[in-house]
Amino acid sequence: MDALQILRLPALQDNYIWLLRVTGSGFTAVVDPAEVGPVEQALDARGWALHAILNTHHHGDHVGANLALKARHGLTIYGPAADRARIPGIDVALGDGDEVDLGGLRARVMDVPGHTRGHILWHLPEAGAVFVGDTLFAGGCGRMFEGTAPQFWASLARIRALPPISQIYCAHEYTLGNLRFACSIDPHNLALQARLSQVEAARQRGEPTVPSTLAIEQATNPFLRCDQPAIAGFFGLDPAEPAAVFGALRAAKDRA
Ligand code: ZN
Ligand code: FE
Repeated sequence: MDALQILRLPALQDNYIWLLRVTGSGFTAVVDPAEVGPVEQALDARGWALHAILNTHHHGDHVGANLALKARHGLTIYGPAADRARIPGIDVALGDGDEVDLGGLRARVMDVPGHTRGHILWHLPEAGAVFVGDTLFAGGCGRMFEGTAPQFWASLARIRALPPISQIYCAHEYTLGNLRFACSIDPHNLALQARLSQVEAARQRGEPTVPSTLAIEQATNPFLRCDQPAIAGFFGLDPAEPAAVFGALRAAKDRA
């Protein structure tokens, strides 16, 4: 996508910080800055300024550099209205359906509670990019710290309904463990088996596995398939009650 440049900045143990540069305007934003170092290094190497922080939720590995980057760049911090008290330095609090102009590129916010109660995602429809924080992972999903299973399932079902060609940018490199668990639940899924082989090879070469596409997640991520007989059947549950299946699946992953 020429309109938007997206850089992956590995941070902490297994986080990804996403640095966005709108080519036409030079507007630069960072999604969930876990720490200052990788962001400053990337900016310095390119001579870029930083204009905004886009937060998805309040956890320290997503807002850790908010105040330091704001002090240094005088930027604007956007985050979830439902959790504004827990987002350091927040300037603009946003909720479901709100839109932000990122230097000429439209970003749309969606409420996706479940991992935390105030989790949002950032959908950039013209760029075909979705920044999902810790709601959806490649091959998995975040832990259910603050939400309920019906809430989390509803959030995932809304993500699943976005355009399948969307690129899914999550905040952690958890793909290999997620896919191994997924294969234990959905062992006859050929697309999943193929993906696990690809990801094993990529990780052996030290390569990242994020972003993925929504189409791949729809086909292989069991947390998006709770209304499918293969996933519900594993737990002896009814695919017509996907929130219950989600609850069982999430609990099984927590024990894995
Ligand atoms: Zn988190
Ligand atoms: Fe996280």
